[in-house]
Amino acid sequence: MGRTFRIKVRMRRFRRQHPRIAFAIRSFMIFSATFGGAYGFVTGSRSENSGYDPNTFAIGASFLFALACLGLATLSMRLRFVNKRMRKLAAHNEALIDRNWELKEAEERARSLFEQQGDLIVLRDHQGRITFANDAYCALAGQARSALIGTRFDFDVLEQGDSARESNGTRIHDQRISTSSGARWIAWREGFVRLDAGQPAELQSVGRDVTDRTETERALSDARDQADAANRAKSRFLAMASHEIRTPLNGIIGMGGLLLDTTLTPEQTTYARAVKTSGEALMALIEELLDYSKIEAGKLDLDQRPFALSTLIEEVTELLAPRAQAKKLEIAAYVDEQLPLEVVGDAARLRQVLLNLAGNAIKFTASGGVALLVEPGIWPNEISFLVRDTGIGIAPEAQSRIFREFEQADDRVARTYGGTGLGLAISERIVKRMGGRITLESEPGKGSTFEVAIPLAPSQGSAGQTTFPSPDLAGKSILLVAAGIEASLIARRLERWGGQTCLVTDATVAEALLPERSWHAVLLDRAFGSDITDRLGEAARAHATQRLVLLTPSSRHEKLSTAFTGFLVKPLRAASLAARLALAPEIASPDLAPEPAEPASVRPRTSGLSILVAEDNEINALLMRSLLTKLGHRVVIAVHGEAALESWLAASSAGTPYDLVLMDIQMPQLDGIEATKRIRAHEAATGGHHTPILALTANTLVEDRYACFEAGMNGFLIKPLDREKLDEALAGLAASRQLTV
Ligand code: ADP
Repeated sequence: MGRTFRIKVRMRRFRRQHPRIAFAIRSFMIFSATFGGAYGFVTGSRSENSGYDPNTFAIGASFLFALACLGLATLSMRLRFVNKRMRKLAAHNEALIDRNWELKEAEERARSLFEQQGDLIVLRDHQGRITFANDAYCALAGQARSALIGTRFDFDVLEQGDSARESNGTRIHDQRISTSSGARWIAWREGFVRLDAGQPAELQSVGRDVTDRTETERALSDARDQADAANRAKSRFLAMASHEIRTPLNGIIGMGGLLLDTTLTPEQTTYARAVKTSGEALMALIEELLDYSKIEAGKLDLDQRPFALSTLIEEVTELLAPRAQAKKLEIAAYVDEQLPLEVVGDAARLRQVLLNLAGNAIKFTASGGVALLVEPGIWPNEISFLVRDTGIGIAPEAQSRIFREFEQADDRVARTYGGTGLGLAISERIVKRMGGRITLESEPGKGSTFEVAIPLAPSQGSAGQTTFPSPDLAGKSILLVAAGIEASLIARRLERWGGQTCLVTDATVAEALLPERSWHAVLLDRAFGSDITDRLGEAARAHATQRLVLLTPSSRHEKLSTAFTGFLVKPLRAASLAARLALAPEIASPDLAPEPAEPASVRPRTSGLSILVAEDNEINALLMRSLLTKLGHRVVIAVHGEAALESWLAASSAGTPYDLVLMDIQMPQLDGIEATKRIRAHEAATGGHHTPILALTANTLVEDRYACFEAGMNGFLIKPLDREKLDEALAGLAASRQLTV
């Protein structure tokens, strides 16, 4: 079957390829057959031996005739069939001619589109010869197409930009080229295209003139560089200016403080106090501006040191407690106990953010209170700090605006409360720099909650440590008679320690509840008023088995009812509460034990240091002398670095070295850095006593601090200095001196 088909195919192909030979063979065969048949028939009928029979002849003739008719009929059918196919072919042919026209038209359109493109289009063969160039390319080259085709023409490249390659192999690059109409920037896209299957691929380059865009970008980038430089200059200027302003301001505030310590008439006291508060307000403003300019100039360097979370939060609450209590507001904090004890980060900057948020919360709250909650965040190692208040709230349309610099929610409110509108802008930038976010939820009239969520990794050494042992209150009943934010936080903490806490916010209910059972401890809040708490205290005495504690704002010196076994100062420190509850039963031998020791009370007092103060500003020198003398130290003033060095050398060689040098940084003749270097060099050469040197500076730029440490200083004190700051700095020194002596 296959073989027959192959033979047929071959014969057809032969007929197609050699139609004449096929025609000749076919004609010859038809002629031979016809002739052979006719000849045989005629000869056969004529032969004598043929036994001619007219009947048979007639039959034969009619058979032949029939055969001829059949042949003719077959031919006619074949002819009709062929005609039909011919008509079909003709119709097909016409369709093909139409299609051909359409294709030609489309090609024409595509070609004219291609040629009239605004973009430059050029095709080159594998030897770099141009095979096609559109009108735009010819116009830019300043030559006719016919002159370009077949040449290796290319533009002169004046500047070559970066080049990149796309995943499909297309190369993209920018070039600045020299053209007949001047230098132009062209963005090229180049790739290989195969136009004909039998031909090698051609390089197609499509270029877009981006001169305007590139020049605008360059102008923008130049403008940005200039703005950056101006910004840096501005922040340097601000730093310098603020330094210059701080120095006299330091004098004003310090002298105001000293004046207030003298005997003054009430009127004079009012004026002196006004001078001091105005100076402090101005100092706060300068500090905010300086901070802002530092952040703007990208000079915010973050520290990465371990710090205790609860200490930081307690510091913030305690610092703000007097302000809150002055407005009869509550302030309380709660640090979730699942959080690591110590985390690594910039505690000072975090404190600044929290102080701003909690400070605002107190400022914009008239009744109720402020809570600081610290909880695990939504991401691993993220910690969420919530500052919640019951204040005036913020209108929805102002909520995003207030994070912008110098923006306040409401001008009328701003006039009442004051402020610069910089605090939140600074806080947000610090938080972002720490890799965190700050969000706000607020309803006017109901209060606001600011949330700061930042990544803070636990410190390596703190795993498994605890600041204080938690008291075991499992199964013990505790009655907490208190109201407000702090009450619920204390209750939460007591429950964490296992206590069965009964929180009562109404004194009458508490009185009724007292006889219900015997209470391990009863905690009463002074906020109900001294009469009520004293009465409740007396009533509770019979039902409290171990202790009866008064929670009081800060009036430690207030006379307590003898019913109480002790007191705790609000805002409550978790450690103090734990220590108080862990004490031996106090009811049996009631005495007014003082609150468990706090760091401040164990701090050693400073005692008579001999101090050299290098300070060129007369007023500041006078201020330092007064402050230090009042703190019980002996002071020698040197008015420039040279004098300080001489005085230090003289004291050392006389065998009475100074205990401390307070060194101003900017001084005439010899500045503080240089004077320190010389002192350290002398100490190294003689192997003598190492004198602690603290820088005295109004400049808070980080590079200045580095310079201080590099010169060999032990630390620095930032102006303006007040008695507390100075006392604190010197206390540590005096303590270490006592230890080493
Ligand atoms: P300042 O407090 O110096 O005006 P901030 O940037 O700290 O600047 O705050 C901007 C504004 O946001 C405030 O003026 C106040 O209108 C609004 N605001 C901030 N915190 C609170 C808050 N806790 N309750 C109500 N309004 C607030």
